Amino acid sequence: MSSCKDEHLQLTLHGDLADLLLRQYRQNTEIRYPLSRRASIKDILEAMGIPHTEIGGIQKAAQQLDFSYLPEPGEKLNIYPVPAGPAALQPSVLRPDPPTEIRFLVDINVARLAVLLRMAGFDTVSLREEENVPGKREVAQQSRCSGRIILSRDKELLKHREVAFGRLVRTQDPTAQLYEIVDLYGLRSNLEPFSRCLRCNGLLIAVHKQRVMDQLEPLTKKYYYNFMKCGSCSQVYWKGSHHEKMIALLKPIMA
Ligand SMILES: [Zn+2]
Repeated sequence: MSSCKDEHLQLTLHGDLADLLLRQYRQNTEIRYPLSRRASIKDILEAMGIPHTEIGGIQKAAQQLDFSYLPEPGEKLNIYPVPAGPAALQPSVLRPDPPTEIRFLVDINVARLAVLLRMAGFDTVSLREEENVPGKREVAQQSRCSGRIILSRDKELLKHREVAFGRLVRTQDPTAQLYEIVDLYGLRSNLEPFSRCLRCNGLLIAVHKQRVMDQLEPLTKKYYYNFMKCGSCSQVYWKGSHHEKMIALLKPIMA
């Protein structure tokens, strides 16, 4: 008589986590995973295509597990996505020390999102602006040391063990990406439009027109009275037609 012991781990994926699976798992929400080796639940989920940054809870019956948990054959686990809203950055079994400030580190593959986040007033470092393109390990370390949340479409970057907080950006269009991030972290009441420089992330300060006259085009001199200047790179801003477009873009997410 052969043994009938189940060598599989039963996983139930909640939310949109099944969409992140590698093709061989066929985007099923119920997975029978063959346990051929001792591996942590983090390693198992990442081998299936789900970066740890996307996981908000790992549950066995009522027990909350952490990423180092070593599943046994026959066990049934529920896997939950990061909850939307302020709960996304609450301390949890998986991430006991969330960042206290909302600050972002934006990957090259979503570079236009960085500009939109600055437009909405969020402290945002863009990897596109780094002098030398850093490798995944350096980016992961930069995120950990600076306490910045990584935003990327690169699963391999987000799987790096030094990354604690990050988001695999789901949408393609930059405006949709901005809305995705604002709603994921519950930031509608944190928007401070036109408080940051789009070019360098510096804070803007109001300046008297006379002090920026030499930087203005004749028509701008004629029609505009209120000016802001970047405290870091000295770029001058005013509420021209570009400003109207930006207001229209932010309107759907303004609290
Ligand atoms: Zn600037």
